[in-house]
Amino acid sequence: MNYIKQFTLALALALMVCQLFAQSNFRFSDPNMLQILKGQYAPSQYYSGQTKPNKAAIKQALLSQTSSDSLLQFLFGLNQFRNRNSGSDTLSLTNGIGAARNWALQQFQRFGQANPAFKSGFFSFDQQICNIGTHKNVLGILPGTDTSQKGFILIEAHYDSRCETVCDTACEARGMEDNGSGVALVLELARVLSSQTYPRTLVFMLTTAEEQGLDGANAFAVFAKTNTLPIRAVLNNDVIGGIICGKTASPPGCPGENEIDSLQVRIFSAGANYSMPKGLARFTKLSFEEELLAQMPVKTNIQIMNAEDRIGRGGDHIPFRQQGYAAIRLTSANEHGDANASAAGYQDRQHSTRDVLGKDVNGDGKLDSLFVSTSYLKRNVQINGITSAMLAIGPQNPPEFELINDGNGLSVKITNPQSNYAYKIGFRSRSNTFDTLFTLNGQSDLKTYHVKKDSFYFVSIATQDAEGTESLFSLEKYVKVAGVPPTSLQENAASGKTMQLLPVSPNPIDETLSLSVWVQNPKLGLVGSLMITDLQGRIVKELHIDLNKNINEVVFEHGFSTKGLYHCSLFVAGEKIDTQRLWFR
Ligand SMILES: [Zn+2]
Repeated sequence: MNYIKQFTLALALALMVCQLFAQSNFRFSDPNMLQILKGQYAPSQYYSGQTKPNKAAIKQALLSQTSSDSLLQFLFGLNQFRNRNSGSDTLSLTNGIGAARNWALQQFQRFGQANPAFKSGFFSFDQQICNIGTHKNVLGILPGTDTSQKGFILIEAHYDSRCETVCDTACEARGMEDNGSGVALVLELARVLSSQTYPRTLVFMLTTAEEQGLDGANAFAVFAKTNTLPIRAVLNNDVIGGIICGKTASPPGCPGENEIDSLQVRIFSAGANYSMPKGLARFTKLSFEEELLAQMPVKTNIQIMNAEDRIGRGGDHIPFRQQGYAAIRLTSANEHGDANASAAGYQDRQHSTRDVLGKDVNGDGKLDSLFVSTSYLKRNVQINGITSAMLAIGPQNPPEFELINDGNGLSVKITNPQSNYAYKIGFRSRSNTFDTLFTLNGQSDLKTYHVKKDSFYFVSIATQDAEGTESLFSLEKYVKVAGVPPTSLQENAASGKTMQLLPVSPNPIDETLSLSVWVQNPKLGLVGSLMITDLQGRIVKELHIDLNKNINEVVFEHGFSTKGLYHCSLFVAGEKIDTQRLWFR
């Protein structure tokens, strides 16, 4: 075969592959939906009379109207379609993904009857997935009352399900934990939140083809980016209602088979420092703890995880982060399985015919022991709800600010303070969560934050309105507080330290850790390696790190069983630059 023939064949093959994965023909069933998402509409089209948001009423609605019974009704509703594989039946009225999405649309339409401003419809796209060419996400949209307030809030969950084989359209794929729980959450939240009004638009989306490659979320994210749709935040809910550990689910979120945890929920998000997704994760935890936690009869603890998802796994928040949006994933603390359903001996429920709603223990033909906990799920609805509501009513932008280190402590100075706002200042040093928060009232600078020497502090600030609602936090700024180098650094002190490993504290519930390196003079092509050793000096892991920014980071996947003291050393061009202790407790 000559080169031209070879080239032509390769080109034809490449085109075939492209067509196989290409997404095209993005469209809404109702053109008004796109106008709302673009912010190009007159609010008077949808609202008349008083539309001022009422924070107290929103909180009251979340606390009193969110209902376990309603969640159960949604789960039973979804359960009837037997299989929601992206390639399953689209014509049957009783079985398959077509019937499921029509049912979901009917739920949104029902909320539209209660509040005519609430719009619903499909977002469709063409792509070959499991032998079907056209796929649909289901959307419910509550238009904002003030189009000068930019950016809509997207709450999503995938509604497709799967068994052991990714395109099996004949099996029983009820997918109740993964991800009937997320669907019920999104529907319940749309029902409750649509009883109130908000300046910014709320979008509730149920995505398809997550199980084949995050395709429904990717189609919408790409469409949003191409059309410069202003998305303020994306909250993805996937595997959000189960509380029981399977055999293969990872500890310590899952300490052991059949262990139960209904008191914690995990947020996964990309990045460590100056990360928009991590900022959104902190905003979510803070909004819930400030606004709702005290009034909850049962408390939930939000764990901000280090990585974007569980090791080797993904979800619908990822395509949005890839397009530059702030996107996070909320997931149960305990999962029933690791989704690796084709592994020999896998007995857990996730990604199998066993992911059902519950079992009939006493044999009366009714489910009396549920695998999805509707009371846990209800609390997760409330976490999503308070976060989206605060995002929808809060001030538009964080302030500009300066961060000054005068040797005695840190000062924060708001560049252009406004008299009708306060400012919330978040300090963070060694972990993903804020160490300290200050509210700055009626003045432009804060001077009294004392810091430890030889540390790094990351600071972000939100604008706070008179009712105590925050804007999203700014991207972080960092300050490096100089000091006497600890012993391990003294060997480099003479040469003038221009790089440093940031101190970190591993979170006992997390399976990964972000390691960060500060570089005074970063340049393209500068690389280093991080050598992690145990107390005997044995190398546990070596990680490559690019050093082309002032703060560089890499994720260390240590797994769950790591305990004890380790050392992490930074090497550049064969020279040991810095060492930090990693203490896993
Ligand atoms: Zn899922």
